[in-house]
Amino acid sequence: MSCPICGKETVQKYRPFCSKRCADVDLAKWLKGGYAVPSQDPDDIEEALDAMLDAAEAPPKPH
Ligand SMILES: [Zn+2]
Repeated sequence: MSCPICGKETVQKYRPFCSKRCADVDLAKWLKGGYAVPSQDPDDIEEALDAMLDAAEAPPKPH
């Protein structure tokens, strides 16, 4: 079986993915509902993931 995100060989620890990053990318796709992602281009998905993680990790902004 190969990673559904990037097609690399699956790693047991991260099945069915090859890495935590690909698992995170899949989670981001799922959270965004899939259809909300403008394309299946991995770069777009990674950008969406990075934006999501930035938003999640950013501290609350003081006024
Ligand atoms: Zn992968």
